[in-house]
Amino acid sequence: MTIRANDPSLRSWVDVPSGSDFPIQNLPFGIARRKSGDAPGVVVAIGEQIADLRVLAEHGFFDDLDIPRAVFSQPVLNDLIALGKAKTSALRNRISQLLDSDFDEWDASELAHFFLFPQTEVEMLMPLRVGDYTDFYSSIEHASNVGAMFRDPQNPLLPNWRHLPVGYHGRASSIVVSGTPIRRPKGQTLPVGADVPVFGPSARMDFELEMAFVVGKNTQLGESVPVADAEDYIFGLMLFNDWSARDIQQWEYVPLGPFLGKNFGSTVSPWVVMLEALEPFRVAGPKQEPEVLPYLQTEGPGNFDLHLEVWIRPEKGEAARVCLSNFKYMYWNMAQQLAHHTVNGCNIQVGDMCASGTISGPDAGSYGSMLELSWKGTRPIALPDGSTRTFLNDGDEVILRGWGERNGVRVGFGEARGALLSAI
Ligand code: CA
Repeated sequence: MTIRANDPSLRSWVDVPSGSDFPIQNLPFGIARRKSGDAPGVVVAIGEQIADLRVLAEHGFFDDLDIPRAVFSQPVLNDLIALGKAKTSALRNRISQLLDSDFDEWDASELAHFFLFPQTEVEMLMPLRVGDYTDFYSSIEHASNVGAMFRDPQNPLLPNWRHLPVGYHGRASSIVVSGTPIRRPKGQTLPVGADVPVFGPSARMDFELEMAFVVGKNTQLGESVPVADAEDYIFGLMLFNDWSARDIQQWEYVPLGPFLGKNFGSTVSPWVVMLEALEPFRVAGPKQEPEVLPYLQTEGPGNFDLHLEVWIRPEKGEAARVCLSNFKYMYWNMAQQLAHHTVNGCNIQVGDMCASGTISGPDAGSYGSMLELSWKGTRPIALPDGSTRTFLNDGDEVILRGWGERNGVRVGFGEARGALLSAI
């Protein structure tokens, strides 16, 4: 598949510093509000600027694409995404043409100050109305680490794990955009050696490094998405931090799974990178053994080579990278997750979010949670300020970053950051 807007030779007349996540080959969508206080609207990122699509729409640049101008003035991307990939892809292509240094049908400098604004001058908002959120558990390294810690080091995976992408239904209401502080939750925990639980602030606060995909197309109740078509239903991807209170989780999760240890907050990056912008980074996933059932069998490379990092910035210290992982490690790919999610007829809606589960790699530096990095709290990790962590301290800010890089082009997601506040 050749996508003109992904051409690595394209250059924009907008300055894109080296190392930027937002070259002309990316053009991720978000919702922003100027700090001067105007209404939120649809924007794309280019270099260190945002392009306000409302302005371009008002000047008629999208009129021939059969996209109602009103979708650019919505406070979320749902209506834009619901137009379907034929239109959103054409829109991305048009924006690419308008920002291309070879485009000479207009005087960019005349209009630029009406629609380009520094990212530092806008507030990025939660870009989606998320109807439903599902979290998978699809990294074999993560599932094996957790199974080894809590069950059996010799046989860490449960019998179902290699046969289906294990998941649970999470909480959509508490998904927040990057920059939103997260309050340390209180709840029931069972102290080591105790028979009865106590109530208080979680003492084992954690992050989970995940990617989430955004559903781009509705289905009807009773309908299943075939695995071969599943990517048609995926609009784009975001960084996702599934904050976790391990002590609450450990006491509550039997037998129905995660609940209050998870649903107090999840942080997403403000940008939704279209799946088509990630085509250059497509790679084969791990070989699945044993062979999966036919409804889960995929053809061709279904994984994406996306470099992922987690940084911790103590309240008064400098940020340190604690994890270096990659989205390509996923055992179950997104198409398999969506096919499985809908195989029973469960319907999906535009804006629904499906998170990957913690993305851990094969070596200790690639583990995507403090639980694994500190091996259940037994191996403290050192930060540059001389302090150590087994789990997160109040005041710690957790920063997720991610990008793909090929042919000198880096397509990134920006950041999903959030600071942990003390319990009230
Ligand atoms: Ca998770």
